[in-house]
Amino acid sequence: MRLSNFINGAFIAPVDGQYLNNFNPSTGEVYGEIPDSTEADVLLAIEAAKSAQLSWANTPAEEKFKVMNRIAELIDANREKLAMAESMDQGKPLWLARNEMNRAAQNFRFFATAAMQFSSESHAMEDKAINYTLRQPIGVVGCISPWNLPLYLFTWKIAPAIAAGNTVVAKPSEFTPVTAFMLCELCNEAGLPAGVLNVVHGLGQKAGQAIVESKFTKAISFTGGTATGKHLAATAAPMFKKLSLELGGKNPNIIFADADLNKAIKTTVNSSFMNQGEICLCGSRVFVQRAVYQEVKDRLVAEVNQLTIGNPLDENMRIGAIVSKPHYEKVLGYIELAKEEGATILTGGKAVHPSGLENGWYIAPTILEGLPFDCRCNMEEIFGPVITIMPFDTEEEVLEMANATEYGLAATVWTSNLNTAHRVANKIQMGIVWINCWLLRDLRTPFGGTKSSGVGREGGWEAMKFFTEPKNVCIAF
Ligand code: NDP
Repeated sequence: MRLSNFINGAFIAPVDGQYLNNFNPSTGEVYGEIPDSTEADVLLAIEAAKSAQLSWANTPAEEKFKVMNRIAELIDANREKLAMAESMDQGKPLWLARNEMNRAAQNFRFFATAAMQFSSESHAMEDKAINYTLRQPIGVVGCISPWNLPLYLFTWKIAPAIAAGNTVVAKPSEFTPVTAFMLCELCNEAGLPAGVLNVVHGLGQKAGQAIVESKFTKAISFTGGTATGKHLAATAAPMFKKLSLELGGKNPNIIFADADLNKAIKTTVNSSFMNQGEICLCGSRVFVQRAVYQEVKDRLVAEVNQLTIGNPLDENMRIGAIVSKPHYEKVLGYIELAKEEGATILTGGKAVHPSGLENGWYIAPTILEGLPFDCRCNMEEIFGPVITIMPFDTEEEVLEMANATEYGLAATVWTSNLNTAHRVANKIQMGIVWINCWLLRDLRTPFGGTKSSGVGREGGWEAMKFFTEPKNVCIAF
């Protein structure tokens, strides 16, 4: 399968004619090619986006709503095909890919209604004047997304960008380009006007960099690693671009002794290992109050030992393959580092080679014990099926440990005491706090992190505000 770029409504080959290999993580084999796009391709995409922008901005909200809703319906109608493609491209279990396709459709449906309901504000100054704030489209915007939840996060950016009247130049991760490519076909089928969405495939350092460097992309919405985010911010800052950065996390999962342990343990298995731990919101540091530490540890290890790992297309597998060889090696490298730092491996700690898929990139879900809270394995994002477990005595102590990283994305807190829940939620330095649940998402809520986990928030009005420029008009009476 050879992919092409999608520019001005057409599928076209990269200007230089160069391609990159695309690998299937479950087999470790090349199964397709994607354009190795350069600045020349990005400039074509930007031209198309510029030409389409005014007309799209002036398209009535109801028309925007209709076409975005049709895209959502087409994602639903093609869910199985898309899920299969996502699973093969990313390594995630097929059942999980199906759920993510539901969310991709939901992203379009949600922001289709936002296009209809987003409104300007007005501020009256007694008998002197009235102000109204126009929220106008920014113009051409860049959307750059990662490989872990490919279509889910790609649509999470594109849908609000176009709902707000912008046109888009987007680059999906080079590791997981296929569903973004398939989405373009659906956009044409739904009647999205040419040039509203343009997708350029290729390397971040080449194609991605060209999107960020262009003076014509007035805002960049980026989800990815913290190091890449820093580089992007440095490139975009002198041009005063609007930036939304959703970056890494090292999320604490805090289990108090008074928690419903059945729920806490069951959810902790998911929040630690769903999608092979490759979700920015996965809890990777599990803190357990000492009175229940031994019980939680034993039960967690027993449950994790039951997790099936292997062919992502097999409906019985809970854990699939790691997205790429470099990432697989990075995660295994952290397991080696953990040993050097003095960890005891309670389960996992090694690569797995399922029969018939020996060259695929599989790592057993791993639980590490005995590490200091401030060692590298507890400070750095591993972004794989590896968690640490640590005991704590008091609320103050666990807050200090939980807040000790440079990251501030999400926390999960398990307790049956309302006061504890509110106090910890108040004091924890994270953008998102889940109490007695994990990854329960209402798309209207602000989504994003503090500290090195990012700048700005996505979701609901936050996203619509990011993708528009406010202009205040003051009328004196
Ligand atoms: P990267 O930062 O490596 O890449 C993200 C995207 O940026 C990719 O499309 C990449 O292209 C592109 N890119 C790389 N370099 C540049 C550049 N110089 N200019 C423009 N674009 C560039 O992240 P990963 O894909 O490895 O994703 C994993 C990371 O994403 C983790 O740290 C995770 O925590 C974070 N993440 C954060 C979320 C959040 O909401 N906070 C949600 C999901 C993930 P290419 O693939 O070709 O290199």
